[in-house]
Amino acid sequence: MTEDEIDESNQLLVVIVDVNPNQLMYARHPGSFSRVMNSLLTFMNSHLMLHASNRVALVAAHATGCSYLYPDPDQSKEILRQQDGQHEAFYQFETVVRRRLKTVINMDLHSTATESLVSGGLAMALTYINRVYASLGPAEKVNPRLLAISSTGDSAAQYINYMNSFFTAQKLNIPVDCCMLGQDSGLLQQGCDITGGVYLKVEENSEKLLEYLIWMFLPCVPVRKMLGAPPPIRVDYRAACFCHRQLVDIGFVCSVCLSIFCKFNPVCTTCHAVFQPPKIMAPIRKKKESKKVSA
Ligand SMILES: [Zn+2]
Ligand SMILES: [Zn+2]
Repeated sequence: MTEDEIDESNQLLVVIVDVNPNQLMYARHPGSFSRVMNSLLTFMNSHLMLHASNRVALVAAHATGCSYLYPDPDQSKEILRQQDGQHEAFYQFETVVRRRLKTVINMDLHSTATESLVSGGLAMALTYINRVYASLGPAEKVNPRLLAISSTGDSAAQYINYMNSFFTAQKLNIPVDCCMLGQDSGLLQQGCDITGGVYLKVEENSEKLLEYLIWMFLPCVPVRKMLGAPPPIRVDYRAACFCHRQLVDIGFVCSVCLSIFCKFNPVCTTCHAVFQPPKIMAPIRKKKESKKVSA
């Protein structure tokens, strides 16, 4: 691909940010949440600045659900006028996100769950992209991509939801990028690998978060090939068992629905198929093939 062929316009960036205030990183470093949000807003404004046709959407994943931070789901036609000389599009984006963020965090105030519904956020982002596709005119086009930002590690309880989102994204040719803060997530790592996105783990409470975001995630996918990015790390492709949601190396797989179990289950909990318990290996007599071959 030559430089002239690269289409950097019409980029739709959908970000899923984990805003659960119970995340360990935010508890350990007071003030880190606002730093993450400020870096994210600056990063998304930079994306808008790259091309007039670029678009953004922001989904918040929290303990009790997922919500849109931008575009405003209330659809209020209130016109926001900037006051401090800031570009109107940036002002609009920032004001709406900050107002929505307040509402979303207030909903979760009494929750103590440390896990967030990042997989739900991914699914919501995919539906948003689908809606954008449906609203396009015949000559219009859009190049969507996803970015997940979280500091919650592996949540094997959401394994199936994650995998469904990843395979949907892969089918729709939407790359999933991931920026983990302080902790690794094996599942998101698999998702980035499956969909051809970038996976990056940033050290906890990093002051360079904005620099990482701009260097790794601002360039669109065709441009990334020209950058001297660090080589991809080995991906841990373990699956989570459906019974305890724990990552397993070797397990039992239902031959009907391909559910994974860490222990033998006489009845598959997903599709209710019945299995014989494994017998102690007895010598197996070979049956003679009775099939006739028709010439
Ligand atoms: Zn299990
Ligand atoms: Zn089954």
